[in-house]
Amino acid sequence: MGYIELTVLNNNVSPLAMGIDLGTTNSLAAVWKDGRPLVIKPEGHSSGSVPSVILLPEQGENTVGHAARAQAIVDPRNTIFSIKRLLGRGLEDVREDLKSLPFPVVEDAAGVLRIQAHGKEYTPEELSAMILMRVHSLCCRSMGGAEIQKAVITVPAYFDDTQRQATRDAARLAGLDVLRIINEPTAASLAYGLDQNAGGNIAVYDLGGGTFDISILSIEDGVFRVLATGGDTRLGGDDFDRTLVDLVLDELKDKLPREELEDPALHLAARLAAEKCKCELSEHPEAELHLTLPQSGAHLRLQVTREEFQERVAALIERTLQGCRRAVSDAGLEPSDIAEVVMVGGSTRIPAVRDAVAAFFGRLPHTELNPDEVVALGAAVQAHILTGGSRDLLLMDVTPLALGLETMGGAVAKVIARNSTVPCQATEGFTTYADNQTGLDFNIVQGERELAEDCRSLGKFKLTGIPPMPAGMARIAVRFHVDADGLLKVTAREESTGVMASIDVEPKHGLTDNQVETMLKESLIYAREDFEKSRSAGLKTEIGGMLLATKKSLAGVRDLLDRETCLDIDEAIEAANKALSSSDGKVLQAARDGLEQATGPLAALLMDRVARSALAGKRLDEV
Ligand code: AMP
Repeated sequence: MGYIELTVLNNNVSPLAMGIDLGTTNSLAAVWKDGRPLVIKPEGHSSGSVPSVILLPEQGENTVGHAARAQAIVDPRNTIFSIKRLLGRGLEDVREDLKSLPFPVVEDAAGVLRIQAHGKEYTPEELSAMILMRVHSLCCRSMGGAEIQKAVITVPAYFDDTQRQATRDAARLAGLDVLRIINEPTAASLAYGLDQNAGGNIAVYDLGGGTFDISILSIEDGVFRVLATGGDTRLGGDDFDRTLVDLVLDELKDKLPREELEDPALHLAARLAAEKCKCELSEHPEAELHLTLPQSGAHLRLQVTREEFQERVAALIERTLQGCRRAVSDAGLEPSDIAEVVMVGGSTRIPAVRDAVAAFFGRLPHTELNPDEVVALGAAVQAHILTGGSRDLLLMDVTPLALGLETMGGAVAKVIARNSTVPCQATEGFTTYADNQTGLDFNIVQGERELAEDCRSLGKFKLTGIPPMPAGMARIAVRFHVDADGLLKVTAREESTGVMASIDVEPKHGLTDNQVETMLKESLIYAREDFEKSRSAGLKTEIGGMLLATKKSLAGVRDLLDRETCLDIDEAIEAANKALSSSDGKVLQAARDGLEQATGPLAALLMDRVARSALAGKRLDEV
């Protein structure tokens, strides 16, 4: 039992181009692999994203990414962040931004901004190139040293020509061959496969770390048009953090001397602690805001509830909705004219943000993909198309829940995992349970739970005409094939005779997105319990089969075994029979292992006889 092979029916060649989301806070690369866009994560990392932060030390190599971000607290003046705000801009454009940036920025005679660190000057293009290089090399390295020079890079829809050109120049400095610069909202829509929609209006709500963008797009025959853009270049997750930083400063204002209160290191420590607390509040109703004061090393701990946080950020969320209102109206539309809403940016994980956007547009926004990855994924789709790849698959064309078969004892053997890109196929091997069994019933189920009764049955069919043979000898290959339209065909074939039976089923038929969501949630809630139940069901089936086989074989050869072995086997049979009335996985496992160990000499004897009878040309069931 249990040989399983999963083949995704798509080419598996090394990608020719990557998509890069060069973000204000974080940057990320994705490639097209196995028929879909994918963020390649370095081994042991849960995310492939690189903080868009650069540490420029007095001596030694520049550091980009997580390490630089971690150092920000020690050396804030030489740790550069939010560089995207300065890309392609002049000093006048960014005067407001500079107030919140702790590093010095000047303008040269040609009107180009220069960031100063340790007596050296860097342009925003050079610094952006460092980020691009880091993202690019991490992606190539994670792909086993692949060499990918071509890239599609995303920019905000409102970027003007100079800003787009500056992005292109940064990529060139990083040694990349830019295939195209595309708009971030377009990329996000591509990731969700909305280019395949016949037509309609799309709102892309992008709330990142430092910026809020709302874009209204229309899609017609796969072509995106930007109808309106809006937002606020100074509104984002950082402002949400600031509401918590204020909480910290309020708490400290009477406890610390003024100069300590104004220490940039304290502000950075508070910002990092606030962000951590904010992210936890997206998952939990309450979280701790904890920071170590840089000068004294003392600890500050504050308990914050989600409600408290939501109250503090309500005005910020309302500002984003005002932006939405304006953009929809600029596009000459009403919120109800928007057919799809796409959520982008880490801050859209905040439950209050999701709720507010859903209420504003009167529809559930797309949040199925990771909001940090969706732009890079879309850029990878575009990169794939531009390098000659076809796009006949939607990213969302994946199996929404696992597909499998009910096995003896009511457990589920999952054959196709949830989120497998279609078309796909997988084959699992089964066998007969009883001697001379000539038929097998198959129950095809869909769901994440471990027991068939907790999943949804999609259909049942029977394989008949299996020639009589001892239990466990038949080899029945059950093949699941999901075609590009999501149609599932299950075929069972007995290998020795070629007898076959099959059934066509529609895997998602009748399941609403909400039902899928509920089933997924349930599978998480019940995961441990289900695992235990499924393990027990599987063990009981196995023990049942072992008992039948042992009793049957023992009858004919008992006198060929020594007395001690027979006693051991009898004891193990008794223990196994007793264990069958228990549902404790540990008891069942011990009984199964005990039976296997005790019947070792019996199995050896039988194998010996099978080998001899095969040589003598006898049928196995005559042994
Ligand atoms: P981005 O610019 O899209 O990379 O978004 C970064 C912003 O998302 C930062 O302000 C993060 O603090 C914020 N963020 C990331 N994860 C979460 C989360 N789970 N809850 C709230 N905000 C988050």
